[in-house]
Amino acid sequence: MRRNSGWRDMLHRWQVSFARFMVGRYGTDELNRFLSALILILVVVSLFLRTGILFVPELALLVWIYFRMFSKNTGKRFKENQQYLNLRFMITEGWKKWPARMKEARQYKIFRCPNCGQKLRIPRGHGKISIHCRKCGHDFTGKS
Ligand SMILES: [Zn+2]
Repeated sequence: MRRNSGWRDMLHRWQVSFARFMVGRYGTDELNRFLSALILILVVVSLFLRTGILFVPELALLVWIYFRMFSKNTGKRFKENQQYLNLRFMITEGWKKWPARMKEARQYKIFRCPNCGQKLRIPRGHGKISIHCRKCGHDFTGKS
């Protein structure tokens, strides 16, 4: 039991000194969590492929994570994280909209007005039809 509490003391002392070290430093955020996950993926891939080629990017990511964690320029790190979150939001939203866009592409055909170049969206499956340009008023025929 004595030995156990000794370890606990040491761990506690280490935690306290680490907390002191981290005062005024940035710490971790979503971007760092993403970078850690990326390293994990790279490590798994390099184990799977039995290659050391990914060692450099793995190390670079690790250095980047620690640089961000211990950085005292918290404003800049916060901004980086915001940019990452915005990008992630855009990508996930883009994925969600993809099925709707595919459905639209199947249902509509895009024509370009020969007079002014305006793009016109016409429902498919009506055969040869007359198309009226809503921008310049030009009429032309197309096969939907
Ligand atoms: Zn037109």
